[in-house]
Amino acid sequence: MKITIIGTGYVGLVTGTIFAEVGHDVTCLDINEDKIILLQSGKSPIYEPGLDMLLQNNIVNGRLCFTSQADEAFADSDVIFIAVGTPQEEDGSANLNYIHKAAEDIARHIKHNVIVVVKSTVPVGTNDYVEKIIRNHISSDIEVHVVSNPEFLREGHAIHDTMNGDRIIIGAEHKASGDVVEALYEKINVPILRTDRRSAEMIKYASNAFLAVKISYINQISNLCEKLGADIASVADGMGMDKRIGRAFLNAGLGYGGSCFPKDTRALSYLSKKNNVSMSIVEAAIEANTTQRQLFINKVVDHFNGNVTDKRVAVLGLAFKPNTDDVREAPSIDIITALVSSGAKVSAYDPVVKNIQVLDDCNVVYAQSKEICVENADAILLVTEWDEFFENEWLASVIQNKQIVLFDGRNMLNKNKEEILS
Ligand code: NAD
Repeated sequence: MKITIIGTGYVGLVTGTIFAEVGHDVTCLDINEDKIILLQSGKSPIYEPGLDMLLQNNIVNGRLCFTSQADEAFADSDVIFIAVGTPQEEDGSANLNYIHKAAEDIARHIKHNVIVVVKSTVPVGTNDYVEKIIRNHISSDIEVHVVSNPEFLREGHAIHDTMNGDRIIIGAEHKASGDVVEALYEKINVPILRTDRRSAEMIKYASNAFLAVKISYINQISNLCEKLGADIASVADGMGMDKRIGRAFLNAGLGYGGSCFPKDTRALSYLSKKNNVSMSIVEAAIEANTTQRQLFINKVVDHFNGNVTDKRVAVLGLAFKPNTDDVREAPSIDIITALVSSGAKVSAYDPVVKNIQVLDDCNVVYAQSKEICVENADAILLVTEWDEFFENEWLASVIQNKQIVLFDGRNMLNKNKEEILS
């Protein structure tokens, strides 16, 4: 099968590379020419473990190529995947400008029958809208069917998840087109659920919002545990042993961030308001997530008796979670911004993220290593739980030897998040 992927971000690039790996002929299209030049040279513009090697192998074997030219990308493709961003608007709704533009690009260039697959996370009804845009602009003798195939990969585990995910969702109104999309995944041994397009779109939002609720729930339980002297790690273990609950997503800490949960929960809330349906559980989870970051900031400030002026704060971890370079909606941004605006001096270290553009006015000193980052610090904030902070008990020994207070935002070392290990 000849596949075209529109968008070479975290989803499009991994999807395209894996499709090439399992034998399809893949062309990835992006409007960002710098990205395309980098990709053509075999380098990934994103940090995703294992991706570089797969990328290079498939470029060399001729199954994977990159272009910024739409006519070239669409010329003889059988299936076109849309994997462009759907960021958040001011009012919480999903911004569909990139989707709209991708649909128009397809309509402008397509001269033959084609199946269009929407992989981006989109509000219910968007697949219908994409099909309408394309059909309205092409001649009536060209057959186009749109299939929904939302993506569930986790950044940092994207290759593994694409090859070994829990499910592949295919929502199609035209059965034969759904069959073609299903056949693309033949060599990937993941259970497939076939459904209609609107249900497929909703499965994605409902799943992300459910996980966000689970995180906010355990964080609120954790806050109460802290007051009452219960150990949240044991509580989560005990809860997680119940198969109906499960242990995953019960790690208390700073809450969720990243490019999906924050925007998808807000988009679901927006969609429900628009349809006069209560989504109060998800809205409470969003609020709890915001509060969780503020509670952490308050703890740091309270530790210094309300005055962090000139206090040297070492922030360990900038990415929104380990094993990715994605800083969209990362807790590190809110925490650093708040502390700097209160007068603290921040040094930060992340194994992969070397600076964050939105923090340009914050005078953050980006350290070359974790050791340099914590030198002379008055407090250490563990914000992202990268493995390297725990190798050979590095972090535990730093706070023990230097007697520095640790604010353990990921609940990795301490029962009570804030204490000097001794
Ligand atoms: P991204 O922002 O990393 O990448 C999007 C890419 O699309 C960019 O490179 C951009 O230049 C390109 N693009 C935009 N318009 C284009 C056009 N008309 N033609 C060609 N290229 C175009 O986005 P992402 O994180 O990969 O997410 C993509 C979608 O997948 C979103 O809807 C997101 O919610 C969803 N999703 C993301 C993840 C994740 O972990 N990142 C997981 C599941 C689902």
